[in-house]
Parts: sequence; C-alpha cells; structure tokens
Amino acid sequence: MAVIRDPLRGRERPAAPSHTDDQIIERLLEVGAESTVALTGAGMSTASGIPDYRGPDASPRSPMTYQAFLAGPLQRSRYWARSWVGWDRIEWAEPNDGHRALAALRLAGTITQNVDGLDRLAGVRDIVELHGRLDRVLCLTCRRTYSRQWLQEELTALNPDFLDRIDVDPREIEVAPDGDAELEQTRDFRVRDCPQCDGLLKPDVVFFGETVDTRVVERARDLVEAADALVVLGSSLAVMSGLRFVRAAAKLGALVVIDTDGPTRGDDLADMRSLSRTADFLTAWERAVRDSE
Ligand SMILES: [Zn+2]
Repeated sequence: MAVIRDPLRGRERPAAPSHTDDQIIERLLEVGAESTVALTGAGMSTASGIPDYRGPDASPRSPMTYQAFLAGPLQRSRYWARSWVGWDRIEWAEPNDGHRALAALRLAGTITQNVDGLDRLAGVRDIVELHGRLDRVLCLTCRRTYSRQWLQEELTALNPDFLDRIDVDPREIEVAPDGDAELEQTRDFRVRDCPQCDGLLKPDVVFFGETVDTRVVERARDLVEAADALVVLGSSLAVMSGLRFVRAAAKLGALVVIDTDGPTRGDDLADMRSLSRTADFLTAWERAVRDSE
C-alpha cells in the first residue's frame, strides 16, 4: 500500500533531454497508443491556470495531512476555509490542449496524480484517479458522497461575512493544485457535517499521510503491467504513489518516457527524457499518430 509523503525538496540534479521530441514520438509510434499508458501530474494542469506545487512560481507550503485534518475542529476550519476560498479557481479551470490531445490519443490507460478532474473532463478514458477527485466529498462515517459544489454552497450560506471579516481579495490569494488557498485567518470558519449522519465530511482526495485505496492501486498496476510503454507527463514523481509505477514499468522492460520540465525522481529509470511543455509534447504526439494513420 502506498503512503503519500511530503514532496522532497531540493534533492534533485538538473535534468537534460536525452532525445528530441521527434525521436521520442517516433519510438512511441512504434509501440502504439493501444500498448501505452500515461502517468500525469500537476504539470499537465498549469496551462489551465492551476499552479504546480513545485514549478518555478510555487511557494513552499505545508499541505494538510490526514492526521491533522482528523485532529480537531480548528484544523478542519482551516482546511475548509482555505478550500472554500480556493474552489472557484479549480471549478472554473478548463482542460487545455494537452488534456485534449491525451484524450484523442486513446491510450491503453491513464493514471493521474491530479485531483482537478481535467483529464476526465477532456474525455480521457480508462483513467485511474490515483489521489481521488476534488469535485466530491465523502462522509467518513457513513461513506456517502456529495458533490463539492453542493458543499461550497452550504459553506457560503454558513459563512456569509467571512471574506469581509478577513479582509482579503480571493483573486489575489495563491491556490495550490488541491484547491488549498494561502489563507491564515481561518479560525471562525464554520464547517458542514454530513446531512445524513453528522459525520465528518472530507474531500474525496488522498491527503498527505493517507493511504491510497488498494483497489485503485491494483487497477493502476494492472494497466502498467499490460503496457509496453509508460509516459510520464508533468510530474516530478515526488511522491512514491506515482514513482512506484515508473519503477514497475522499468523492471518489466517497458519503454519509460518522462516529459516534465524539471528534474524528477524517476530520471535514472527513463529510457527517453523530454523537458517540453506537456501540451506541446502531447499535441505533437497526437498529430504524428493522425499523420501515420
Ligand atoms: Zn454520513
């Protein structure tokens, strides 16, 4: 079982491309889309306006851990206040050319570490959302799920004066890929419990310190074990839950391609390495597939 840990910062060596994108795409055409699996990360969504945890503009931050979320009402107020402020940024984000090209490629499967749902919205099929999805909330007691948008409206009704009280403009607040806004005054924020059983509501995403559901891991592993190529797109592979699939693919002798615009923890395992923007790489790859048909 995979435990999500905090990203390791500042331990990477500089990355360098090993081949041109044309050379990599030629190799991927030989393998074929039907035998290729993608593993996507935050770099896929930066062109949709969702910042990367580790990109050049990212500020150091400490994401909420599962243990902290459960620890008490102050921590939950903090989580939901920040999520409430950050939600619009996630809700309004739209898939970019990279997501659309990925959908058009019709790969054997896509494992995403993103919780923004943009791959799914773009029509990517056979997708495993490894870290869950932000557009849903889950009751920790009765396990019912609710839409995040419903909760947003409930939180807005419960906290009508909150923004006036903290005196900040939500448009000027930095928001992380998990919708967490940089906000400190969260003490008085009122949270909503499960309407059915008064249990704690949690976003249906895997927090740092939390275990990825075994069935989800198995679905992802099945995809990787059946594939002849694994293409990492926009991920620094900072968390083990993603890196393990790259290790598995390399061990099985599959072609491992990494396209991420900075160093990754999987660089030693990559057969081919590109630093291109994911949207550029994916649109070129998708065009090449169409031209070859
Ligand atoms: Zn419940």
